[in-house]
Amino acid sequence: MDREGPTEVTSALQEVPDLRVSTITPASVQLFQDVGAWDDIAPPRSAAFQQMQVWDEGGNGCVRYSAGNVGLPNMGYVAENRVLQAALMRRLTHFENSRLLWPASLEALTLPSYAPEAHEGRPTSSLHLSAGNTLSILEMVNCRPSTNTLAELRLADGQTFHARLVVGADGARSRTRQLADLRTFSRSYHQRGIVASVRTQQVNDTAWQRFLPTGPLALLPVRGGYSNIVWSTTVQQALALEKATPQEFAFAVNEALNGGSTPARNPLLPFSSAADFTAPPTVFPVDGTVQRSFPLTLAGSGRYVRPRLALVGDAAHVVHPLAGQGVNLGFGDVRALSAALAHAVETGRDPGELALLEEMYEQPRQRENGMMMMALDSLKHIFAPQKGLLASIRGLGLDLINGTPALKERIMKYAMG
Ligand SMILES: Cc1cc2nc3c(=O)[nH]c(=O)nc-3n(C[C@H](O)[C@H](O)[C@H](O)COP(=O)(O)OP(=O)(O)OC[C@H]3O[C@@H](n4cnc5c(N)ncnc54)[C@H](O)[C@@H]3O)c2cc1C
Repeated sequence: MDREGPTEVTSALQEVPDLRVSTITPASVQLFQDVGAWDDIAPPRSAAFQQMQVWDEGGNGCVRYSAGNVGLPNMGYVAENRVLQAALMRRLTHFENSRLLWPASLEALTLPSYAPEAHEGRPTSSLHLSAGNTLSILEMVNCRPSTNTLAELRLADGQTFHARLVVGADGARSRTRQLADLRTFSRSYHQRGIVASVRTQQVNDTAWQRFLPTGPLALLPVRGGYSNIVWSTTVQQALALEKATPQEFAFAVNEALNGGSTPARNPLLPFSSAADFTAPPTVFPVDGTVQRSFPLTLAGSGRYVRPRLALVGDAAHVVHPLAGQGVNLGFGDVRALSAALAHAVETGRDPGELALLEEMYEQPRQRENGMMMMALDSLKHIFAPQKGLLASIRGLGLDLINGTPALKERIMKYAMG
């Protein structure tokens, strides 16, 4: 058995955090605790945030959430992707019956046809393609294949494997999904998300998000006094910001966060959210860093499963980063698929059986992910116009949420998973 993990993701923390970070909801934290990976992710390797403030340059409204108000120690964590990968990879190497192939690249995939076939007991494995071109192979005992045709994978180096279940976790441009011939829908937002590292004078413990005329800008706390910027904007502005020096970029962020008007009292409401508004911290450049940008799209696979195949994470759905939900939807998939596989092991069912995958994985996850995709897409459109009636209604809506504790708590609990 090969017990050597991938070196790229098991290395020590760098001084400056990774540009790619994720907000981790309490539901995802629970998953990491369940698989024994949380100790390698928890602060100081990640940062907890106690508050969240969302405000609007065009509509004048503001919502401020505080973990203390609902009796929680924090509202979530921000962790670098590298830290998440390393922690999960370390757990994977502890499984007696697992083998990691690293690096590995999928070249060909053959799946059984949809027609039901005869049962035949042939012991084999479940293959998971994920986290940085790694293929993990887990032996699944007690499970009887429901069809005598197994999935066949061929890697770029010519190695071939047979599996009762292939889990495609290979991201938005999933090769697994393409090879399985699963139809996708995709709509470009004609925007890019720019990510960067900055510093704040005091340690930042708030997730800030301001809706600007060009899109939302988030300032998220990361470990060691650093913060991360996720700025969704026009293609033109993103490409220009990518070329900016760290000093120029920090200046642009400060302008974007603090320029224009601050929330003011809405005359239509008996209470004022403006009193809750807190000015965001000034950001400072981090020498030697660069900004990177990614195209923003809404995309999804019409089906998440086929006989002997399940797609998880961005391979199945891609959302706008405005609420930091992308990776958490993927971890929700992992929870549901794990429950389906545990059920297969307990009952002796085939883990690659289409009916099992449909009932216990695809249907509940498509419902859940579909609702979140619609909610995020609607938010994106509601926050697009910056002037006029819709902007005023939007400002009123934010103030109403802020001034209605029950509604505020409901939205917060939904976002926290
Ligand atoms: C600007 C921006 C900001 C974001 N911010 C947040 C945030 O704050 N919170 C949040 O929850 N989400 C955020 N997201 C979304 C989040 O990054 C993704 O949802 C998440 O990374 C998806 O994880 P994944 O494992 O499904 O796919 P990926 O992270 O894309 O990983 C796929 C892996 O598969 C490997 N792979 C691909 N093809 C092959 C192949 N043929 N053979 C072998 N291996 C292969 C890749 O190397 C990669 O390691 C953001 C996204 C963007 C663009």
